[in-house]
Amino acid sequence: KHLPIRIISKVVRGYGRGSKDLGIPTANVSREKEDLYCSCGDFDHLPTGIYWGFACIGDGEGVGVGEKNDDDNAVLGKVHTAAISIGYNPTYNNKELTVEPHLIAAATHPQRHASSTGETQFGDFYGKIIVLSVVGYLRPELPFEGLEKLTDAIKKDIIDAESLAGQSNTTTLAEREWVGSSL
Ligand code: ADP
Ligand code: MG
Repeated sequence: KHLPIRIISKVVRGYGRGSKDLGIPTANVSREKEDLYCSCGDFDHLPTGIYWGFACIGDGEGVGVGEKNDDDNAVLGKVHTAAISIGYNPTYNNKELTVEPHLIAAATHPQRHASSTGETQFGDFYGKIIVLSVVGYLRPELPFEGLEKLTDAIKKDIIDAESLAGQSNTTTLAEREWVGSSL
């Protein structure tokens, strides 16, 4: 009943585990009130879990969100499908709730399917603006025994996110549109 949740914020540094431990980076959303718009109101009470949705990165100047970017390898100004973790990363047991989308490159590169395994990365975009729509729920947050099991679960989440985002129902299209046209 909360969904979709719309968030506009800044990309901040986390613990750096996404790429280092798992090979799957997640863009951590700033929790600072002055950086944050969240349609759900209280950020800390977002229902935890793994979700799918859409994300777009803008820099507030130059290539902004919604502006067309013809560079196929660029991350800015494009709507990416995302697998999104909301919660406390129980495998690591964080103290504060984080919202962390992994942007799936295959959404814009259907031919480059290696990205379904989380291998394709975009380079850093810390400090950029992120527009995020959390559209659907995939599964609860779970503590995994070992990083391999966690990585396998995330790879499956990425595949699920891609296939759900590929469906063209009214909500999906509306949220894709919203993410691409905000700011
Ligand atoms: P952190 O703990 O600082 O979030 P991560 O290892 O999770 O570190 O890496 C996240 C950073 O990697 C993002 O903030 C972004 O700058 C970069 N990045 C590159 N490609 C992606 C991607 N496909 N999805 C999310 N972030 C990405
Ligand atoms: Mg991260």
